[in-house]
Amino acid sequence: MTFDQIIGHQQQKDIFRRAIGAGRLAHAYLFEGPEGIGKKLMATAVARALCCLEGTGCGSCAACRKIDHRNHPDLHMVEPEGAGIKIEQIRRLTRELAYRPVEGRKKICIIDRADSMNPAAGNALLKTLEEPPGDTILILLSSHPERLLQTIRSRCQRVPFHRLPREEVLTVLTERLGIEEPEARVLAALAEGSFARAAGSGREEFGSLRREVFAWFSAERLTDPGSRLRLAEELDRRKDDLPDIIDILQTLYRDALHLALGRGNQAVNVDATDFITRLAGGKTIHSLLGKIDSLEQVRRQLERNVNRQLAINVLLERLAA
Ligand SMILES: [Zn+2]
Repeated sequence: MTFDQIIGHQQQKDIFRRAIGAGRLAHAYLFEGPEGIGKKLMATAVARALCCLEGTGCGSCAACRKIDHRNHPDLHMVEPEGAGIKIEQIRRLTRELAYRPVEGRKKICIIDRADSMNPAAGNALLKTLEEPPGDTILILLSSHPERLLQTIRSRCQRVPFHRLPREEVLTVLTERLGIEEPEARVLAALAEGSFARAAGSGREEFGSLRREVFAWFSAERLTDPGSRLRLAEELDRRKDDLPDIIDILQTLYRDALHLALGRGNQAVNVDATDFITRLAGGKTIHSLLGKIDSLEQVRRQLERNVNRQLAINVLLERLAA
């Protein structure tokens, strides 16, 4: 992945193009921002640019290919093993970084999900950050930088990454991955800027969950108390899927709102027009807004670990009303 091949993140690309061109890279960076929006791609592009035999991050020389295959001797990847990054991994890294680069001028170390380091591992890394070997660039990636030790954060140059605009995700899906327009539009909207979610390994699962939501939340099932009870039990069992289910429902109700306002062309779920029409049927704008609001409330309640069963029951009552 070269800088040019990365979609979006223009400002971040410029920072690194300039710093690499001028030979003025910091010793440590912290890439912070939501999961799946390209932080690791950018870190890999930096590694390529530094190791490339052509000096450009060309993507085709032996060094670039080794970076892509994660087997370049000067690239050190640290990722969580089990629940998180362990102190042994940081100790191993510190030993490796003590040597000079093998093939290039720099050693690059990418620490993915750096916030999963326990305090012991964090303190071990701190020593390296305090006295970094001169030929080493450390790049920490994190979607929860607030969980990192403050002393680690303060020793890194922080580079914020933001969600990609929907149109940019759509471009990648249609032009690079060849996904057909209607499906790509739905995926791009649901991904909320997370490219991994729109196109990554979770895509198939997400698609089938979406189909299940259509079946569960039909108007007939919502209004029948018995069906509603069974649905509540099913949702309680599927607790890990609940945040995604709520996301999907929110886009459906927002589409229903668009429809009610005569803005059907702005709908996201272009493949589910019948479902949305029934969802919007006979409801006022006020009522639809209330349902969207209820979904948002439940999302926040679930994040705070409130009584899940109760939250689900209240939600279903409100959606049925
Ligand atoms: Zn190259």
